[in-house]
Amino acid sequence: MSKCPKCGKELKRIKQNSGVAYCCINCDYSVATTDLDPIFEDQQEYTITLLPNNSINKDILKIISSITNLNYIDCKKMVEKAPSIIFKGDATDAKDVKAKLDNNNIKYSIEPLFIY
Ligand SMILES: [Zn+2]
Repeated sequence: MSKCPKCGKELKRIKQNSGVAYCCINCDYSVATTDLDPIFEDQQEYTITLLPNNSINKDILKIISSITNLNYIDCKKMVEKAPSIIFKGDATDAKDVKAKLDNNNIKYSIEPLFIY
């Protein structure tokens, strides 16, 4: 499920005659598919896998912890035992995770092909 760009809550998908609209469950945000960023249309589940040979330091563990909600010890194990799956979710969330990983030079892969 996609997230509201205004408040971050879930967007509800509503079928209309002309297509599909997304309405926020929390605020007044709503948008029709015609002027929608294609990332919101993407219903695929993406898997982000941590690749081997990442360095293990506090900054990297902090990033992985923020993605997985696991503690540093479990995150350290994930880095050591890589390849490890650290994320499964929709395109909008995958984009956030990808940005965090890119910003910290963490090696990863995304399946299926991620175009955003
Ligand atoms: Zn909202």
